[in-house]
Amino acid sequence: MVQQGQIDHLLKETGQILPPPALVQQAFVQDFDAAYKASIDSPEDFWEGVAKELSWFKPWDKVFQWDYPTFKWFLGGKCNITYNALDRHLTNGNKNKAAFIWLGEDGSERVFTYGRLAQLVNRFANGLRSLGVAKGDRVVIYMPLSPEGAIAMLACARIGAVHSVVYAGFSVGALRDRILDAQAKVVITGDVGYRRGNEVDLKGICEQSVNGLDLVEHVVVWNRKGPPESPMAKEVDFDQLMAESSIDCPAEEMDSEDPLYILYTSGTTGKPKGVQHVHGGYMVGTYYHFKTFWDVKDDDVYWCTSDIGWVVGHSYIVYAPLVAGATTVFREGAIDYPHPGVFYETIEKYGVNVIFTAPTALRMLMRYGEEYPLKYDLRSLRFLTCAGEPLNPEALKWTYEFICGNGDWGHIVDNWWQTETGGPCLGTTATMPVKPGRVGRPLPGASMDIVDREGQPITEPDKGGLLVITHPFPHFFRTVYGDPDRYAKDWSTIPGVYLTGDVALRDADGYYMVVGRADDVLNVAGHRIGSAEVESALVSHPAVAEAAVIGKPDELRGEIIKGFVTLRMGQEPSEEMVAALKLHVRGELGPIAVPAELEFMPTLPKTRSGKIMRRLLKANELGLDPGDITTLEE
Ligand code: AMP
Repeated sequence: MVQQGQIDHLLKETGQILPPPALVQQAFVQDFDAAYKASIDSPEDFWEGVAKELSWFKPWDKVFQWDYPTFKWFLGGKCNITYNALDRHLTNGNKNKAAFIWLGEDGSERVFTYGRLAQLVNRFANGLRSLGVAKGDRVVIYMPLSPEGAIAMLACARIGAVHSVVYAGFSVGALRDRILDAQAKVVITGDVGYRRGNEVDLKGICEQSVNGLDLVEHVVVWNRKGPPESPMAKEVDFDQLMAESSIDCPAEEMDSEDPLYILYTSGTTGKPKGVQHVHGGYMVGTYYHFKTFWDVKDDDVYWCTSDIGWVVGHSYIVYAPLVAGATTVFREGAIDYPHPGVFYETIEKYGVNVIFTAPTALRMLMRYGEEYPLKYDLRSLRFLTCAGEPLNPEALKWTYEFICGNGDWGHIVDNWWQTETGGPCLGTTATMPVKPGRVGRPLPGASMDIVDREGQPITEPDKGGLLVITHPFPHFFRTVYGDPDRYAKDWSTIPGVYLTGDVALRDADGYYMVVGRADDVLNVAGHRIGSAEVESALVSHPAVAEAAVIGKPDELRGEIIKGFVTLRMGQEPSEEMVAALKLHVRGELGPIAVPAELEFMPTLPKTRSGKIMRRLLKANELGLDPGDITTLEE
């Protein structure tokens, strides 16, 4: 939940940073206003034009149909996103171009051309078929950030199976819940992941998660450390499956609206929200923004620092860059390990031109100081983009000065989106002045507005309200897997518009400032975590009676989690109890959801109807006015 103090601080920011002339000159979209207007005035013509740049097995009969709140794009069209990501490049001159450059924390490097990647995806797709995976089946992927993780995703899409990637930082409870919700018959995992030189035992976590789940028929394991001494139950070896399968696997013909993937994200309830994207519209929309917002050129090297476990990794490590025929760098592990200069070393070594990263990463680099960027030649870097959480003006300015050479070679911009939108909706493009503290303007296709709780548009500049989307674009999610009512609720809490859950304001120039969430969703280091999920993990510990968690501003991570706990009768607060509860949440949800602080309370403040008042806890914690507390229990 947003606090006024944060907004006041940002509103004081004035001044603009103009994009370097060379960046403006080469920008793909020269007349942004005209492109935006075309996309809003006649969205069907606009998106049809983009769709025609890609390959379809059969063209669509109708571009768009809206049966509020559900909608369809490219009706009757037949396609497969992997045909555009792989096959197309085998005949257009990209066959021997690097598709992926993968880097390990230990300095290892693996390069995959489009030709080689297509072969490997085909092999694995055939392997999945041999295990009985068919069109429409769900497959959970719990993999380290690796080429094999991306290959697993593409192989599912190739045969029309629906993948659900679970971030490898999640733990047993979170993984098991997602396997169950998706009713996955196959799980794909790795033996270990690497982070800061440590091994993360993914296979062990996976083994516990599938224990007793009859619905899971096979667990495919990428044994990167070599063959296991004792394979787990239902284990199939990833490399062996590949080796035994053929390199020919034509892409399954999919309807535009057939599901491509489910990606679970956090909402306001304890149950994760299975956001579902489709083959056709998602391919068209994410590709458009890759080309026009990231502005990646044919001979550029592009680096995305996200993970395949998040939507940014789905859209902008795997799918859109491949559809566009780009060369993408991705790297397993921490951005400051094995040394604080490794981020810059990577830019220099690979001649990276465009970067997609998160404010948390920049704040971490800023903390190490400018001596590191000054040691490296960063002149290849043209465009550095950020998303995931508010980009604070301090981090922006430091990055501009020390990583972008004060605009001599590079530029930094912000963009806003979420798992549900598949691609960016607000942003500062290569041709627009940057306004620190503001994310930018609505991007083509995105009709955005700011409204009050009754749905009335807020037209007054710099006045906060709820950020909404008023018209669906092709890459917008289609439903919540298995829960259409939850999807409908997003479109009906305020009738006629989709509620993003964020609070924003718009200035007199039409630039938006996204200040944070309007609901009980937290954003820790750019990762979305539901208060309710952490609370239910806490109360699942036998010593806990009740729990409430809030987000507390943090210089590095944006927000940290603070938990308030009342213990059951006979349990005493202690340091050991704090440690035990943290360990428990880690086991249930994973390290990213562990509260940094825990406080024991005899009771928690509640409304008369029994709802815990997180708002009051937060106000007390931050020394702020709690606002309206008339519904508080006496
Ligand atoms: P996720 O669905 O995990 O990608 O998280 C999406 C949420 O992250 C949004 O609803 C926002 O709360 C936040 N977010 C993403 N990008 C930005 C940004 N550029 N500025 C502020 N908040 C952002």
